[in-house]
Amino acid sequence: MKIDIMGIPFDNVTMEEALDRAMELMERPEPAICVTPNAEILYEAMENPELMQMLGEADLVLPDGAGVVLSGKLLGTPVKQKVAGIEFASGLMERLAGTGKTFFFLGSKPGVADTAAEKLKEKYPGLNICGVHDGYFQEEGPVVEGISAMAPDVLFVCLGAPKQEQFMFRHRGELQAGLMAGLGGSLDGFAGNVKRAPRWMIRCNLEWLYRLVKEPKRLGRMLRIPKVLLRVMGRRLRGKS
Ligand code: UDP
Repeated sequence: MKIDIMGIPFDNVTMEEALDRAMELMERPEPAICVTPNAEILYEAMENPELMQMLGEADLVLPDGAGVVLSGKLLGTPVKQKVAGIEFASGLMERLAGTGKTFFFLGSKPGVADTAAEKLKEKYPGLNICGVHDGYFQEEGPVVEGISAMAPDVLFVCLGAPKQEQFMFRHRGELQAGLMAGLGGSLDGFAGNVKRAPRWMIRCNLEWLYRLVKEPKRLGRMLRIPKVLLRVMGRRLRGKS
């Protein structure tokens, strides 16, 4: 079931349901697309109709972050839970390690995807990573060909929004891949370049504060979150009047 939050049709799923759905999608003949909008991306989509359209057309739309969950609540259309992209990616690797299914990592600065791959193979024995490529390339053609040559079951596309969505939709027709997932800075997280917040902060919905203290340059982007909430409140008041 889909739940509309500020124009984006989110899948109303628990993490387990999201993973079940991903397993079904990767068996389809054509590549499926998964997106993981957080509140910052939600705000960007309100300003960028192309991004909004792509998010709407994705096969799996996961509510990544406390801001999206809160927006749903305030609008009276709550989603079941937050399904963070990086946790979804971890869940997929855990389920698929040792099954023969293959992963390709695309994105982040040179070397990051390689480090992530090494660490993840240790963490999930039997994980089959068939290729990696950094996210700073001039021409997309050779990258698309390189991925298709490996025909991965799962492709992590970590180029940040809206680049990763544009890449997935632009090449959907030619890319040989089961499920493509746009996952932002997840490879940095897996490589250990960006640490996640302590568990208690994640539990208290304070991961944004941790990231802000660690990377103060995120302030501009994060100010989008209260802007989203203001718009949500505006819509709610109008809806009730
Ligand atoms: N990135 C990339 N190619 C680009 C621009 C960005 O591979 O041309 C990577 C960047 O190195 C980072 C990720 O995309 O790993 C974006 O991370 P960010 O935390 O900004 O994304 P978010 O998850 O917050 O959307």
